[in-house]
Amino acid sequence: MSADLLEWYDRHARVMPWRVGPQDRKAGIKPDPYAVWLSEVMLQQTTVAAVRDYHRNFLSIWPTVQDLAAADDAAVMAAWAGLGYYARARNLLKCARTVVSDWGGAFPDTYEGLLTLPGVGPYTAAAVAAIAFDRAETVVDGNVERVMARMHDIHTPLPASKPQLTQLASDLTPNTRPGDYAQAVMDLGATICTPRSPACGICPWREPCKARAAGTAAMLPKKTPKKKTPTRFGIAYVAQREDGAWLLETRPETGLLGGMLGWPTTEWTDAPQADPPLIADWKTLSEEARHTFTHFHLRLSIQYARVATDAVPMRGDFVPASTFSPASLPTAMRKVFDLVDATLRDN
Ligand code: SF4
Repeated sequence: MSADLLEWYDRHARVMPWRVGPQDRKAGIKPDPYAVWLSEVMLQQTTVAAVRDYHRNFLSIWPTVQDLAAADDAAVMAAWAGLGYYARARNLLKCARTVVSDWGGAFPDTYEGLLTLPGVGPYTAAAVAAIAFDRAETVVDGNVERVMARMHDIHTPLPASKPQLTQLASDLTPNTRPGDYAQAVMDLGATICTPRSPACGICPWREPCKARAAGTAAMLPKKTPKKKTPTRFGIAYVAQREDGAWLLETRPETGLLGGMLGWPTTEWTDAPQADPPLIADWKTLSEEARHTFTHFHLRLSIQYARVATDAVPMRGDFVPASTFSPASLPTAMRKVFDLVDATLRDN
């Protein structure tokens, strides 16, 4: 089965900036472990399309793990802004620094070695070991779970079926070209064995596939219904000085958007209490910013004020308009800025 899939991969592999394609790999070109690791960290909970530009940008600013290890924390957080899950960016830096300080600047080339690095869990360790070092590790993402559930016609819902699907994926992992194979299963799930309408007619695994034979492919994998996502509320305070400077605050290292620059806000709760960062004539915007995090929806009402150049905030710092970059804000905070900006332009 792996031979059929690899043959398909040789013809249909997706082109990705961090990937060494099957032809180049056969010609002896090896992937850059740093580029592979960076892509895997970025791809956690994020799509390939969203990651491409960030990956290119990171590699142009910090072409090696040594460059990233020596980077300024704030510059890395700003370059990461918009990708979400900011703990990943902090772990990214910790990991780069550990690779340089403890491993002489070379990523460990085994699953066990990679697993010792900060922020590298079982999935990332397996993916980097397989893709960068051609180790026969089993890489199981959502695409692979779907393909395995269909190949074996597994009706136990996720997440309960995870161990079984992982075992089935492991049983299929070959010792020949395991790095290409890992990427091939993921490509199959992303392009042929897609969630809603699998293209079974052109699938390299159509013969052995049990769900295709049973006519159950489109209904698999089954999933246990998620609990309803709760909503939290908050108030964001956007203060601009007469000279154009904006009042921003670096969020605490721990917690959501930790270490990121943003507008001062209240706590995010069921019923937030007003907590303005300075005394001003605050006006409430008619629109609120909405953003969804992993475990809750956030609705931020927005208060805006123009303040004197000598205004002294109780928290946060004024950032001159010349150095303020909305692109360096995390998405939730960027949405707040866009609403304020649109209101100011309309008035
Ligand atoms: S035959 Fe269909 S359901 Fe089975 S693996 Fe291929 S695309 Fe998926």
